[in-house]
Amino acid sequence: MKTIGLLGGMSWESTVTYYRTINELVKQQLGGFHSAKILLYSVDFDPIEKLQNKGDWAGTAEILTEAAKKLEKGGADFLLICTNTMHRVAPQIEESLTIPILHIADAAAEELKLNGVNKVGLLGTAFTMEQDFYKGRLMDKHGLTVITPDQEDRKLVHDVIYNELCMGEFKASSKNAYLQIIEKLSKSGAEAVILGCTEIALLVGKEKPSIPMFDTAKIHAQQSVKLALD
Ligand code: GLU
Repeated sequence: MKTIGLLGGMSWESTVTYYRTINELVKQQLGGFHSAKILLYSVDFDPIEKLQNKGDWAGTAEILTEAAKKLEKGGADFLLICTNTMHRVAPQIEESLTIPILHIADAAAEELKLNGVNKVGLLGTAFTMEQDFYKGRLMDKHGLTVITPDQEDRKLVHDVIYNELCMGEFKASSKNAYLQIIEKLSKSGAEAVILGCTEIALLVGKEKPSIPMFDTAKIHAQQSVKLALD
């Protein structure tokens, strides 16, 4: 079994999903007392969030590269960055490593294609919904058609992530607002929706909107188990 390196803590709430999902799947597949070989570097998210806000992506890359190198040195065979947004700096991190990064957007796209989805709605931080590192990758590398909510709804989705979900707050009013936004995406032709922020399933994961939801934290964790047991 390969050792999975997790670069987590962004936020720690969703890193819990990774730890649990990976161990549950390894136990399911190998049985007995089997559990996953995991190295976790859980960062302090506060300085990273401040740098994101200032648009200092180079600063975030520096912090995450240092952490990633420690995971590599510790014996991780490959790396997961346990957040969609911070894949903004995945190329910079990867440059300093000899082990590969399992990209969260590639994992999501594979799963969507397996399920025959072509046109998909995307929810996530404004960075993820609006910048090319994520939406562009889904469209250019994987040939998906990606639609996002309108400006006002994107702001709501973004603000709920940072002001509530990353703080461990899960409000019914925000859940309802997200579900309404998902229905709008469905009306615009989305066949499914990517929960493209690793905390969103903690808010709406138990609901059943009219289109299926693809939780990137779960899918990313599942793909890592495939790779670890390959
Ligand atoms: N976990 C979130 C994501 O998947 C947002 C937190 C962050 O900025 O990394 O994008």
